[in-house]
Amino acid sequence: MEHDILIEARGLTRRYGPNVAVESIDLTLRRGEILGLLGPNGAGKSTTMKMLTGNLAPTGGTVKINGIDLAADPKGAKRSIGYLPEQPPVHPELTVDEYLGFAAALHGVAKKDRAAALQRAKQACGLTEVSRRLIGNLSKGYQQRVGLAQAIIHRPPVIILDEPTVGLDPIQIREIRSLIATLAKEHSVILSSHILPEIQAVCSRVLIVNRGRVVFHESLAKLASEAIPSYYVQFSRP
Ligand code: ATP
Repeated sequence: MEHDILIEARGLTRRYGPNVAVESIDLTLRRGEILGLLGPNGAGKSTTMKMLTGNLAPTGGTVKINGIDLAADPKGAKRSIGYLPEQPPVHPELTVDEYLGFAAALHGVAKKDRAAALQRAKQACGLTEVSRRLIGNLSKGYQQRVGLAQAIIHRPPVIILDEPTVGLDPIQIREIRSLIATLAKEHSVILSSHILPEIQAVCSRVLIVNRGRVVFHESLAKLASEAIPSYYVQFSRP
């Protein structure tokens, strides 16, 4: 069944002993949206994304993905999500095709559909020419494209991208940003960053987190007119 609300998190919380990494975050992602998750280092962005993708169990709260409760049916819920973690596992010894084939199998793409899925993901991410290259021999920018391709390999309605431009040079940043904007035509997106212009370039709505709590949740237009304290975000790259 098609749902307009693709992700609905309520009271999402993660504690580590006495320390609170994420405290009672409410978050909604609607179909067609690009939601920015903005905040300084240690704000709780990665922890939130790991919980939204079923890679970390919350200590409180609920997540529904495309109408399915993540805790009750993790396999069913995860089918609707593609995830690029902040530090994706790199498999330098595999070719792009080998790795994406592996990702397709992991995401439950039927064997008979895998060749077409690879073709489509590579085309979408500009990887067709490097299909047989070893991932270890690709630039960081191309490795990130491979990360994006594995996130869309099973055509999930949602992709969750954790700081996808960190460690890239300015040209690679521009390319990855523009690729994300293209992918957003087919997938709803949650994108995290600690850099304001990065979020302004592609997002329609933004949620600023600090010390695990939401401190601002508005449309991008509203964000531009607000005075945002500089300790929440970086206004440009260092
Ligand atoms: P960054 O941009 O640096 O990745 P972030 O906004 O993604 O920052 P998180 O990585 O989610 O922040 O971390 C939020 C808080 O939770 C930090 O204070 C961090 O030290 C703490 N934290 C994260 N993982 C653990 C863990 N496994 N054990 C203890 N504390 C943790």
